[in-house]
Amino acid sequence: MERENIGNLIVISGPSGVGKGTVCRSLLKKIEVVYSISATTRRKRPGEIQGKDYFYYTREEFEKKINEDAFLEWARVYGNYYGTPIEFVDQILHEGKDCILEIDTQGALQVKEKRPEAIFIFILPPSKEELIRRLTGRGTENEKEINTRIGKLEEELAHLCDYDYKIINDNIEIAAEKIKAIIVAERCRVKKNK
Ligand code: 5GP
Repeated sequence: MERENIGNLIVISGPSGVGKGTVCRSLLKKIEVVYSISATTRRKRPGEIQGKDYFYYTREEFEKKINEDAFLEWARVYGNYYGTPIEFVDQILHEGKDCILEIDTQGALQVKEKRPEAIFIFILPPSKEELIRRLTGRGTENEKEINTRIGKLEEELAHLCDYDYKIINDNIEIAAEKIKAIIVAERCRVKKNK
């Protein structure tokens, strides 16, 4: 008997600078999954593209979307709003495709409340020192922004226990392979409700 084929919702979090974005880009080349594009009020970084990296909203536009219940989850991260447009995610899942959310821990907890069947993966740095080194080396944030992100590190790490899987990112390809293995295993799962 065919059961309705709903895709898996996969939540990936980890501290800023851990390489979530790079690992996810590598993952997309290894397995067919759809990456959910978030909305944000943060300024566009050089090289980022509207509708590819994020949907860039003004604060007013974002708050209007909150009031319209347009987000599966939303949070204020480092002084800006970030949110997952619900319509897109549900469309993908109902097409039977797996959908990846790369979101912070506050957002992940909201998803856990609303969609307990989702799969939660936390990416860790090899060490705290290495994370700080990566964060300062990537040159996309100013000193104040870097310090804010380092300050949130411990808070983020404390949420590890809310996740199903942890991946240490000391090698991008290996980290992406491990996430792929988790997704493949989840596709084989008999009982969807954990
Ligand atoms: P960045 O500004 O470096 O692109 O992202 C900053 C943080 O916001 C990262 O931890 C990222 O995972 C998180 N983030 C990105 N999109 C979303 C979202 O839609 N919802 C939530 N809650 N966090 C997000």
